[in-house]
Formats: sequence, C-alpha cells, structure tokens
Amino acid sequence: MIGISLYFHIPFCTRKCPYCHFFVVPNKKDHREDFLEALLIECRRILPKIKDHLVTSIYFGGGTPTLLGATAIHILLESIPFAPDCEITIEANPEDVTEELMANFKQAGINRVSLGVQSLEDSSLQVLERTHNATKAIEAIMHTKNAGISNISIDLMYELPDQTLKDFEKTLRKLETLPITHLSLYNLTIEPNTAFFKRTLNLPSPEENLKLLQSATDHLEEMGLKRYEISAFAREGFASHHNTGYWIGRPFFGLGPSAFSYYEGKRFRNIPHLHRYMRALKENRSAVDFVEELPYPQNVHELLAINLRLLEGVDLTTFDLPEATHALLDKLHTENYLKRDGSHCKLTPKGILFYDTVASEII
Ligand code: SF4
Repeated sequence: MIGISLYFHIPFCTRKCPYCHFFVVPNKKDHREDFLEALLIECRRILPKIKDHLVTSIYFGGGTPTLLGATAIHILLESIPFAPDCEITIEANPEDVTEELMANFKQAGINRVSLGVQSLEDSSLQVLERTHNATKAIEAIMHTKNAGISNISIDLMYELPDQTLKDFEKTLRKLETLPITHLSLYNLTIEPNTAFFKRTLNLPSPEENLKLLQSATDHLEEMGLKRYEISAFAREGFASHHNTGYWIGRPFFGLGPSAFSYYEGKRFRNIPHLHRYMRALKENRSAVDFVEELPYPQNVHELLAINLRLLEGVDLTTFDLPEATHALLDKLHTENYLKRDGSHCKLTPKGILFYDTVASEII
C-alpha cells in the first residue's frame, strides 16, 4: 500500500506575529465548533480516496492547533484510519504549554510535538514580538517531555533583526542540554503583507548570515542532530516522516482553509478564507479553489529539485528525465553544485549553500 500523509491547518492565533505570512485568523471560541464540524465533513470527503493508502503521518499545523483543544484532536483522529506506527505531530507555542495540556494531547493520540521556540535569547524573542521568553521555551520542552512525549522538534530562526553571532551562539549552547530530537532551522524571510515588510529592520549582512548558518550547523551536528535536509536536523531515527513525505513526493491531503494537497500528480489548494471554507463544506461542496497539474517534464523537474533537499541525495533512475536534464546535471556537477556518482546524485556543500540556484536551474 502506498503511504499518504494528512495535514490539518488550524488557523487560529491569539495574535499575529509581525513576520507571519501564514493564513491565520483571530482565535474566537464560537468559531471552533463550526470549524471542527467542517473538518469532519472534509475528513469524510477524502475517506474514499485514502482507503487504498496507508496513512503514515498526520500533522496538525497552523496557526496554533492546540487552541482547538485535545478533545477535538481526538475526535478528528477517531474519524480517520491510520497506520499503528503513524507519526502524529501537533505544533504548539511555548507560552501555551503545560504538562497537563501535553498529557491531554498525548491521550488524544499525539506522539510528536513541534514547538515554536524560535530563539532562546529574550532580546530576539522581543524583536519577533513573541509572547514567550527563553525560560518559558525551555519549560515548554521539559513539560512536553515530562508529559510522556519524547519526540520533540523545535523551530529555530536566524537572520533576525539586530541578531549577533554571539547572541545566536548563546541560544545554540542552551540547546545542548535539552531533550530535543529534531530541529527545523529557518532564516527570517520578509514577506509582503507582513508587519515587518513595512518596517526598516537592521538585518545581518549576507556574510554575517553565512556565519550564523555555519555556527548552527556546527553546533547542532556536535549535539548529535544530523543535518538531513537543507533546513532540518535530527537525531538518529528521528527525521520527520511527515516532512520527508513532502520532499519525496508522497501524496498528501491538506484539510482546513488554505491547506495544500498533492494527489495523483495534481496540486490543490483549499479556499484561504475561514467562513467561505466552512460554508462550502456545509453545503456539501468541495473546499478546493485551485488545482494545478504540471505538464511533463516540469513535474519531474520540480520533484527532483525538491527531493534534492534531502542531503542523502536521490537515485536518478527513479525519475523519467529528458536527456537535456542529464546534461544540466552534468554541468551542475562540473560547477561543484552537485555530486554525480553513477545514478546517485546529491548536493555538494556548495550546492547546499546555494540550493536556490540549483533548484531554479533544474526547474
Ligand atoms: S504563532 Fe505562528 S502561525 Fe500564529 S501568527 Fe505567530 S508565526 Fe503565525
């Protein structure tokens, strides 16, 4: 049976962070029941499609999915069949985390938590206008662990306004004693329609950014968190099954407003509006408002570029590549962006650093 993943987009947030470009809406209690009902209708709609697959990962993201509550998560998980060893992740913000809350989510079926730590320096957290501080972030990790969830991922950001290498290294050193199994490392990107986009920010220079990235990679590898993807580090056996699915082209269904799906070679997006999304489902209409199917060879090129994000590399025989693409890969090999060894191909250290260049050449 072919594996499949499910992603639930829970769009509620108590406030909007100035760099956030996700689809989020203010957290209103009276929306939650209707929203859960809409998600359950959407689950029923996809059931016939997933019945020939094995659901191997489920991810509750957002937004702030913990705002939906453990009971709702339990109800959703009861509505779908999944593999016994399914990886079931929920994102959480450190300020919300207590041992009791995490114990409730564990009881509901969650076996992995992704915490939006972002930094362990109070100055950086203030710049990001996060409502937690470093102490609270560390407590959140420990509460999760003490609640019996030992697969803990954190998000960490760099290239932050006013961030110095010294500050960042303090955060990296604090991580050394914490029981985390996985880390996603993001550089801050300033997207249109965010508060940061309208401000003048004192961002580190490209040279400083390189030093921040190098320092993170060195520290994390020393801690036993191996870089297995451009922006992801994990202890042995803890690479994210869900995220790996995106990189290898495993089909997935996204449920909730604005959520993307990838199924039978087509990409779909749900309506990025809470009420329109809920109305469509209650009226027994599809919540999808966008479908795209890339023609050959663009589809194969895109999949290859995404798959190359995994540092172990790819087996080129699994891709139906035109001759011209082989010539391009040879050129990227000569330029030291890629290493080709028979049918195996992977990014070199230079290719990892300039992944965007490699991807845009391939795509
Ligand atoms: S908590 Fe996360 S999803 Fe919510 S506004 Fe902040 S960055 Fe966006």
